[in-house]
Amino acid sequence: MLLYNSATRRRDEFIPNEAGKVSMYTCGPTVYHYAHIGNLRSYIMEDVLEKYLRYAGYDVTRVMNITDVGHLSSDADTGEDKMLKGARREKKTVMEIAKFYTDAFFADCKKLNIKTPDVVAPATSCIDEFIKVIESLLEKGFAYEAGGNIYFDTSKLKQYYIFNDFREEDLEVGVREGVEEDGNKKNKADFVLWFTKSKFDDQELKWESPWGIGYPGWHIECSCISMKYLGESLDIHCGGIDNAFPHHTNEIAQSEAYLGHKWCNYWFHVHHLNTNSGKMSKSSGEFLTVSLLEEKGYDPLVYRLFCLQSHYRKSLVFSYENLDNAAIAYNKMIARVLSLLKEEQGEIDNESFDALKARFCAALDNDMNTALGVTAVYDVLKAKTTPATKLKLIEDFDRVLGLDIVPAARKQYDAEKAAAEQAASDPFIQEIEDMIRQRAEAKKAKNYALADEIRKTLSDKGVTLIDTPQGTKYTID
Ligand code: AMP
Ligand code: ZN
Repeated sequence: MLLYNSATRRRDEFIPNEAGKVSMYTCGPTVYHYAHIGNLRSYIMEDVLEKYLRYAGYDVTRVMNITDVGHLSSDADTGEDKMLKGARREKKTVMEIAKFYTDAFFADCKKLNIKTPDVVAPATSCIDEFIKVIESLLEKGFAYEAGGNIYFDTSKLKQYYIFNDFREEDLEVGVREGVEEDGNKKNKADFVLWFTKSKFDDQELKWESPWGIGYPGWHIECSCISMKYLGESLDIHCGGIDNAFPHHTNEIAQSEAYLGHKWCNYWFHVHHLNTNSGKMSKSSGEFLTVSLLEEKGYDPLVYRLFCLQSHYRKSLVFSYENLDNAAIAYNKMIARVLSLLKEEQGEIDNESFDALKARFCAALDNDMNTALGVTAVYDVLKAKTTPATKLKLIEDFDRVLGLDIVPAARKQYDAEKAAAEQAASDPFIQEIEDMIRQRAEAKKAKNYALADEIRKTLSDKGVTLIDTPQGTKYTID
């Protein structure tokens, strides 16, 4: 399997540290607001990666944090804690906000068929681990205290910038537009490991530490939570592309300084969902949620299909027109599976099964080409093989795609069957259908007077007939 690795900037053959096992870490949401559909694009694509690794036979352990403290409104450790901002906005406590938006996040994930990771750890549950690692970084000379805060000293590293070959001075958060400089930092790229009073007036969540009462920086959270649950060597680290710098760059700096060896082998970054006016972001205040799409009548899985139809390393522009096209494609797929369910099933044809499955795997093995993975479903629908083989293949692919294609078709099939059974046991429906048959015969015999009379009799009973190319349908008042 080839997987693009942001650290090497090429598609690498995926080889885990331990044969057959994969450790995977995902940066979780900052729970100060609803997740927007841009955030969820990242989680959908990471979910497909996890599911494909499992499908390919790996035993995956996936860990995700919940950022409930320490993520400041600016990447450069300035501004206030986003959680505090959320709490103030809603006149609630930080923990109330965290609980509410964590639950909302998982409710959205459920609707989108995003599996909950094996371990979900709120940052506030791992304070002791953060303190332990920061103490060690201080001992090793990779960190220093200034103005009451503890900073990571990036000048102590052989290489700090990992993910790109831009000019260093363009990347330094300290010189980014609109970002005020922190005078305590020895180097512009240094970042905070532990904040103390000098960084807040009324921070709600704070803990005792060897450096005074304070709270952890956002970056140290992910390094420590990953090491706590997945050990000293990580196979895959995931996140949206905006996390590559500074968040993931800082994670690598502090984890490798602490461990004294390489930490993570593959970096999987999902590119952004944009609107016509740029990146969708929570801080801009203008964003779309899954609930909003539902209110507009979209099945959340239509959004999942919309994401799968494009490559995770390309930015994706959201528009309702594109979402409508995904809805049409989704409904067509379900309708075609529904007609398969109505056919004589036949035997499983193993040869066709293997050939069509190989196409699906080739798409996903090639740096998670989910668009071609979806095309493989159409290939199955068009293939010259038995309905039983087709259904088995689509169910098999859906373990990765997570679109519920067969269950949705079965639901429609069962509903149609139940309606037919109900009609068969309802004397009024029987009478209507008998009269429709008599009317068809009358028309065939050119007895239009009788046909009209039947229409009138039914109309008097509140039944309106509608002649269509597929036969006569009716509505009952
Ligand atoms: P946050 O809740 O802000 O910590 O972000 C959660 C995840 O969503 C992170 O992996 C971000 O990199 C990712 N993310 C943020 N904005 C977007 C976007 N517009 N498109 C895709 N992913 C995003
Ligand atoms: Zn993270």
